[in-house]
Amino acid sequence: MPRTHHVDIAIVGGGLVGASLGCALAPLIRQGGLRVAVIEAAPLPNADLEGYQPSFDARASAIAQGSRQHFQTLGIWQDMAREAQPISLIHVSEQGRLGATRLTAEELGVEALGYVLPNAWMGRVLHARLTELDLDWHCPAKVEKITPQAGGHCLDLSDGDRLQAGLTVLADGGRSGLKEQLGIASRETPYEQTALIANLEVSEPHHGVAFERFTREGPLALLPLGGDRMELVWTHASGTEGETLALGDADFLTRLQRVFGERAGRFRRVGRRHAYPLSLVTADEVVRPGLAVLGNAAHALHPVAGQGFNLALRGVMDLVAALEQGVVEGQAPGDMAIMNAFERRRANDRRNVIRFSDGLIRLFGITHPLLSHARAAGLVGLNLTGPLRRTLARRAMGLER
Ligand SMILES: Cc1cc2nc3c(=O)[nH]c(=O)nc-3n(C[C@H](O)[C@H](O)[C@H](O)COP(=O)(O)OP(=O)(O)OC[C@H]3O[C@@H](n4cnc5c(N)ncnc54)[C@H](O)[C@@H]3O)c2cc1C
Repeated sequence: MPRTHHVDIAIVGGGLVGASLGCALAPLIRQGGLRVAVIEAAPLPNADLEGYQPSFDARASAIAQGSRQHFQTLGIWQDMAREAQPISLIHVSEQGRLGATRLTAEELGVEALGYVLPNAWMGRVLHARLTELDLDWHCPAKVEKITPQAGGHCLDLSDGDRLQAGLTVLADGGRSGLKEQLGIASRETPYEQTALIANLEVSEPHHGVAFERFTREGPLALLPLGGDRMELVWTHASGTEGETLALGDADFLTRLQRVFGERAGRFRRVGRRHAYPLSLVTADEVVRPGLAVLGNAAHALHPVAGQGFNLALRGVMDLVAALEQGVVEGQAPGDMAIMNAFERRRANDRRNVIRFSDGLIRLFGITHPLLSHARAAGLVGLNLTGPLRRTLARRAMGLER
């Protein structure tokens, strides 16, 4: 017989998004008395902040100013900031064109346009905070089956436990098959592009500059990391990445230098390379009675504008705001009134960000020469016309929806 536990909220997935939600629920756990469970399939990453050793190969993400503010609200920015590299300038250019646009933190009157944080560090900080909260951890344990029932959902876990949850939040990254079990369809539009990710050592100090370069194969981004390291996100037309992956380090660096030029100095060393096939994936439904879908399970975006996690974190904060309001009004966490209030807050932001990042790929993916000139003029124009550039920058920083 499975052991059955009753919880108010079950978070399926303790990745960046599920763990952020756990932290954001702290007031509802402490003062509201809500019982929350987190179920994570992979063994818990190390939550020891003092023992953290930065690794040359660690994956990193661009975190917008808006996300920094959310981390501050959660009381974890101080810890996050220890490994955060501020972005002082974003340089956008197109291969073979003169146009370039520069956005600086100084002209926008902000301390930084955003921050680059190792994913492993963000995970540690989030998990360290979660261990301070009174919540039920099921880790490593996988939700194998989800069944709707009166007042919520029943979750069957791989460790033999069964949870009955008033609200289930799917933050499982979208590949677990749970959405399909519930009959929630997803739309997938492959970009026919694959991102190669690796860390680089550069010969010149990067001074906090992030580069975004649109090449014939797709966008190439360099994000500043601690010391003389930068994270490379190099998009290839799918099918062509195998050849670049197979190159020896010296040949890889030579090819990259040819595509990117010398504006960041000489590339001296490359770490382990990872390949990610890219698609736009959106879930057809993100709320139901007793159910909310968050993060990659709701939307997986092209990483061109570094928006996926930033968008998801705003979703986390909006869900918690809707829950706080609902609980004050005496509603149960999975009540459809709360789900609708959450979705009303989310819909515009999600639509705008998807349009913005998808539009960038489509605009820069079109090779018609006239459009190419228009893009170059646009980049130069953006450099000249302050208000439009500022709007673009505020959106990229997550300060505008
Ligand atoms: C190349 C690349 C670069 C990116 N760069 C940026 C960036 O610079 N800035 C940015 O904002 N975003 C960026 N993103 C997007 C960002 O990485 C994602 O938005 C984010 O990782 C989504 O996190 P998640 O928690 O929703 O999903 P995941 O990270 O996939 O986590 C899901 C978790 O659920 C667990 N799980 C799965 N199934 C089950 C189950 N059945 N039961 C229990 N647990 C389960 C998994 O073990 C995992 O821990 C990038 C993405 C890519 C691909």
